[in-house]
Amino acid sequence: MFLPQEQIDFIKQVCASENLNVSIVIKPPRKTKLGDHTWTPSTRTSVITLNEDENKQRLFFVALHELAHAYVAHHYNRNLFRRKVRPHGTEWKKAFQQILEQALENNLFHENLRDVITQHSKSPKANTHSDIALLEAFTQFDKAPHSQITQLKDLNDGDRFRLKQASSTFTRIKLRRTRYLCKDENGRSFAISPMAEVSPL
Ligand SMILES: [Zn+2]
Repeated sequence: MFLPQEQIDFIKQVCASENLNVSIVIKPPRKTKLGDHTWTPSTRTSVITLNEDENKQRLFFVALHELAHAYVAHHYNRNLFRRKVRPHGTEWKKAFQQILEQALENNLFHENLRDVITQHSKSPKANTHSDIALLEAFTQFDKAPHSQITQLKDLNDGDRFRLKQASSTFTRIKLRRTRYLCKDENGRSFAISPMAEVSPL
């Protein structure tokens, strides 16, 4: 199973309600892209390919990006042929926005991603890689390559820590949007990335 059942059901439900004929193929990771969409006008079918990804949150996001292309292809087939519809033009943006909103309403993204995805859906980018805040937010769901590394997200609220290559000590207060509110010894507030490498004290 390439995605959790809930996410698969959501994709199936969008395809059913919009009459989209879509097949999804998982590919070994490609460096140049996270996924793509191919439209065959004669059979009115879409094929979506997705890079194999352990990070299911990112995989689901890329699947929805491509699903929006499938939506546009099915609904604007003739204009697509006449090249009146650009790949990441207003039609695609609107479709992606609606699909993301539905997915958020159904709580299909982790709560830590809600704000950043809501933000992204207001003005979707053609290239997921160009939204740095989004990419950074997804990395918290990557499997840690070195388990000895401790990140701020691994601590509990109230824990004290030192940042790598910095002498001040901080206390983690709580998660605010996508960053942790922390205070230093002088009570000054800082918003620190959940991915920051820390030494617990
Ligand atoms: Zn695209």
